[in-house]
Formats: sequence, C-alpha cells, structure tokens
Amino acid sequence: STAVVVDEQPIKPLVQVEHIGLLIDGKFVDAASGKTFPTLDLRTGEVIAHVVEGHSEDIDMDVAAARKAFDIGPWPKMTTYERQKIMLHAADLIEKHNDEIATLETWDNGKPYEQSRQVEISMLTLHEPIGVAGQIIPWNFPLLMFAWKVGPALACGNTVVMKTAEQTPLSVLYTARLFLEAGLPPGVLNIVSGFGPTAGAALASHMDVDKVAFTGSTATGKFILQLAAQSNLKQIRLLELGGKSPFIVCEDADVDQAVELAHFALFFNQGQCCCAGSRTFVHERVCDEFVEKAKIRALNRSVGDPFKSGIEQGPQIDSKQFEKILRYIRSGVDTGATLETGGERHASKGYYIQPTVFSDVQDDMPIAKEEIFGPVQTILKFKNNEDVIQRENNSKYGLAAGIFTQNIDTANTLTRALKVGTIWVNCYDVFDATIPFGGIKTK
Ligand code: ADP
Repeated sequence: STAVVVDEQPIKPLVQVEHIGLLIDGKFVDAASGKTFPTLDLRTGEVIAHVVEGHSEDIDMDVAAARKAFDIGPWPKMTTYERQKIMLHAADLIEKHNDEIATLETWDNGKPYEQSRQVEISMLTLHEPIGVAGQIIPWNFPLLMFAWKVGPALACGNTVVMKTAEQTPLSVLYTARLFLEAGLPPGVLNIVSGFGPTAGAALASHMDVDKVAFTGSTATGKFILQLAAQSNLKQIRLLELGGKSPFIVCEDADVDQAVELAHFALFFNQGQCCCAGSRTFVHERVCDEFVEKAKIRALNRSVGDPFKSGIEQGPQIDSKQFEKILRYIRSGVDTGATLETGGERHASKGYYIQPTVFSDVQDDMPIAKEEIFGPVQTILKFKNNEDVIQRENNSKYGLAAGIFTQNIDTANTLTRALKVGTIWVNCYDVFDATIPFGGIKTK
C-alpha cells in the first residue's frame, strides 16, 4: 500500500490527438451515421477525444476499399521489393515517432509509459511450435503426404499424431520406424492406422490436440472444421481438398507434345491426383487432331501388374472408387459425350480400368464438373482466351491449371486470369519442397 502514487495534477501529455476519423480508402473520415464515442483518460476519467464510431455501413466501405486494392491492385501486383520498400519506410517512421505513439498508448491504455515505449513497439515475435499436431492424410500419395506434413511439423518442434488412410497404412508405418532408428525420442511421432469416422474424428475432436492438418475430400474437410469448433477451437489447416483442374491446349501448341503432356497430367497415378488435369480444354482449331492423337495415346497406355516393368497404370485404390469411376463413364455416355476409347474394366479381376477418353464434353455434364479421380480424360473445345478463362473460373474448384502454348503473352494472360493455386506452363505436376501447394476458392 505504499507504492501507489496518484498525482493530484496528472501530467499533461505533450501530444495532440489528431487522428480520430475512420481510415477508409486512404482517408480519415466521419462515420456514415455521424456517430462518435469517447475514449477516456484512465487517470481522471476525463475524455481524451471523441473518436468516430463505425457501424456496418463503414465496415462495408472499408471492405470494398480493401477488396479493390487487392483485386484491381496495386498492392498484390507490386513486386515484393516495392512492397518491402514501403514497409521498411513505415517501420523507420514508426521508430522516429516512437515517443508520440507511446504517449498515445499510455494515455489511452494506462500502461506505464516506459512499457509503451519499449514493449509495445519494439517487441519481436518469438517463433514457437504450436504443440501437438493431428494429421489426417489420404491414400493417393501416402508417403508424400507423410513427408509434407510430418517434416515441417517436427522441424519446428511440434509433436505429431498422424492418422493414415485406411487403404494405405503400410509405407508410413515402415518409415516411422526409420525415424525411431534415427533417434527420434518416444512420443514425438505417433501413427494411427484406422478409419475416418472412428480414429480420424477422434483426432479432430480431441481436446489435447492443438492443430489439425488435413488432406482429403471436401466433405470430410468441412466435417473436420466442425469437430475442431465443437471441441477446443484447434487451428485447422485444410490442404488440397478437391480439384477439377484444366489443362489448356492453346491454338499455337505443338499438338504431339500437348497430347503427351495432357495424357500425363490426367492419367498419372491412375488418375488419382487432386490436381489431375481432368478437364482437357483444347482450342477449336487443333481439337480434331488432338482428339485423334489423345485417343491413340490412351490406347497405347500399358495397364497391368504395377510390379511389372514398363507398366504405366496399375489398379485403382478400392472397389468403391472402381465402381464410382465406371458410374461416371456411364454418365458420360448417357449425357451425350463421345466415348473415343476405353470405358470398361480391364482384365477380369482386380480394380483395373481401361484408359478412357471422352470428346465433345460440355461444361454442364457431370464428367466435366465433378472429380472422377480415375483414368478418364474429358476433352472440351474452346474458342479463345476469354472463353476458356470465363469457363474455367466458373468452376467451384481452384486448385491447379496447366497451360500449353508457345506464346509468352498467352501464358502471361492466362496465368494471371485463372483463379487457381498453382499454374504450370508447358509442364505439369512439377513440385518443389520450398514452394507451397494448395488451392484457392472453397473446394
Ligand atoms: P478420399 O476421397 O481422399 O478418400 P476422405 O476425406 O474420405 O477422402 O479421406 C481422407 C482422410 O480422411 C482419410 O484418412 C480418412 O480416413 C479420413 N476421414 C474420412 N472420414 C473422416 C471423418 N469423418 N473424420 C475424420 N477423418 C475422416
């Protein structure tokens, strides 16, 4: 009871309160409603200033301004160096005006002035691990998914509980043992084989898990967000949920090369890639030639026992996917697409499917809109850049895209116009561990 000193005469801050408006689109302005609210000097209860009070109309204007500065620019269109210059300049100015800012902080907040000067403005971020990371992965690239999730999490000091996909538990268990052999302490990396509704859901709703990273279907992704919200509001990182990525063959493309790359983009991994180039858009001038050659390439694809050398395509993952793919093929025929080749199961046992090519595919057919996740190429004709941009951006998916062209202007135009997470120009499925991978849009 001795250290409390309340001055009879509070010290008068040497700073004028100048900015009391809402900052909307670069200007300090009054609220649409004209309202203000007082902010108080906590030492005396006196009003420091009447500050402009924003309501939903003002939020609307601010969001519109931010939207415009993002969608039209300039901010995201500037180079990193231009942005860096502005940000560093701002940091210099903040340092220069440290005293004024700290004064306002203490006046408004009541914290000791020295703390305002030293803590509030100059404190550095301390990067810390989040804690226990729950990780749920799918079956199409079990080891790659393991690496993408476990590598960064462990490197940053987190510990991991991973649930693998029920279809593919083996390679991850084997690899986890290698980590133990390498000296990873017990408990740092834990692996659960099991099913989604039981093991996966338990992990996503666990109260002691600090974060969940998930790759899989959109429906499950939504469910996992719900479980996180209902349990402990754990952070969620949803990755590459679904896709219906376009592979765009422009009119100037070398057709033979385009056919080969489009074939790879779709058929790789039995067509079981979230980023599969599953809508082959071909310019109308080269479409007939392309379809003929794509059909021959699919006919020549070697399907069989994946342990045999030279085999390009093995069986699909399970009977559920196998049946689903055959259902989509029937739907393609029923809705009027032209079945160029394939369309049946391959061999009398095993989940093998013939490499299948559809031409004359229309945007509203289910085979053009939905993720088939199998060896089914759907070829759509387009007229010009505007046509393909508009049709592509109509998709509910936004994961990846491929562009095949010899014209740098076309490549630049499409790269900037397509609303997807990754775009490959004259290549496909090229990854680098230092480049992030993921979609935009909600799927
Ligand atoms: P896919 O179509 O790739 O199989 P899923 O979303 O069904 O997509 O599966 C991806 C992963 O999510 C798998 O490990 C699966 O077991 C898991 N999973 C499926 N359903 C649930 C669920 N209800 N809760 C948690 N995890 C689930």
